[in-house]
Amino acid sequence: MIDIKKGYSLKSKNSFGLDINTQCFVEASTLDSISFSLNYASYSNLPILILGGGSNVLFTKDYNGLVIHPTIKGIEVTEDATDSIIVKVGAGVNWDHLVEWSVLKGLGGLENLSLIPGNVGASPIQNIGAYGVEAKDTIVKVEGLSIPSKKIIALNNSECQFDYRNSIFKTELKNKIIITHVNFKLSKKPTLVTHYGNIEEEISTLGERTVDTVRKAVINIRKRKLPDPAELGNAGSFFKNPVVSIETFEKIKRSFEKAPSYPVSDSTVKIPAGWLIEQCGWKGKKVGNCGVHKDQALVIVNYGNATGSEILNLAEQIQKTVLDQFSVELEMEVNVV
Ligand SMILES: Cc1cc2nc3c(=O)[nH]c(=O)nc-3n(C[C@H](O)[C@H](O)[C@H](O)COP(=O)(O)OP(=O)(O)OC[C@H]3O[C@@H](n4cnc5c(N)ncnc54)[C@H](O)[C@@H]3O)c2cc1C
Repeated sequence: MIDIKKGYSLKSKNSFGLDINTQCFVEASTLDSISFSLNYASYSNLPILILGGGSNVLFTKDYNGLVIHPTIKGIEVTEDATDSIIVKVGAGVNWDHLVEWSVLKGLGGLENLSLIPGNVGASPIQNIGAYGVEAKDTIVKVEGLSIPSKKIIALNNSECQFDYRNSIFKTELKNKIIITHVNFKLSKKPTLVTHYGNIEEEISTLGERTVDTVRKAVINIRKRKLPDPAELGNAGSFFKNPVVSIETFEKIKRSFEKAPSYPVSDSTVKIPAGWLIEQCGWKGKKVGNCGVHKDQALVIVNYGNATGSEILNLAEQIQKTVLDQFSVELEMEVNVV
């Protein structure tokens, strides 16, 4: 029996802690219950929103539709080869639980993505990434239910069109698929990625170089750097790091000699969005009930009673000042609803 809840509060289901309601809400733990929910939405003429852990969404108003929260569980080994395994993981599995599971088994591939909030089903959507590793490096297949055809579909890694914080699920297939399972290839002979940030330094305080110490190092660094949504509402990085032409970057360097950048191609570089925001004087600034985090300019925080519109308004002000000062457009990473 599927329990469709009416007038349901999503306050505990979004990491900004925004007090908003949805007309209808359903937890779907099987393919059948997802199909049923889709039929219910068609029959009742309701728009659909898929919500995982709610750690990458900004609600600006109550939702007049059906929120489907996939809770499909399970981590199943489907292939066991000499050097690697393939695991099929339910969309409702907590992301960090999967990372912990893989590290406990000594398997490599996910350890740098430790402590990212949210569920497995959302991991391919923006191709989550941290500390030099992205979900695309291990995803071999994404399975889901097509919303228009209600048929099961599967996409291999290249069909997912993964890119920096992007994939086909944010473009062509946006709102057209409910991801039910993600398949990952994990290595029995891990190659550790430790060149990024101060991971190497942190590991040296923890002991041997293993997937376990990489995970611990990442967790220590993240806990020091990022606000915990349970204490201060936020959705992690609010903006993507912009990719600009070398010419634009050279112009910026004329005024800001020490401007940081990372090469992307022969003609483009990536500039840390947090640096641009900080140069515009936003770091630590409080505007009404929200503001820019004091230690991490890329993170917008809710001091308790902010509304989604207030947060969106602040984000737009930040975009405008960065555009005015640097002629660089900041794209939001967070999904605005
Ligand atoms: C403190 C903090 C730190 C963070 N650090 C990082 C980081 O280091 N790297 C990084 O990449 N991200 C980071 N994030 C962002 C966020 O954790 C990820 O984007 C995560 O994958 C979102 O998962 P979720 O389950 O919460 O998705 P949600 O926020 O619920 O949804 C995100 C989007 O995916 C869609 N969606 C969710 N599940 C499904 C599904 N099963 N099928 C189809 N569509 C679906 C939703 O409709 C929405 O558009 C951080 C967030 C916070 C709060």
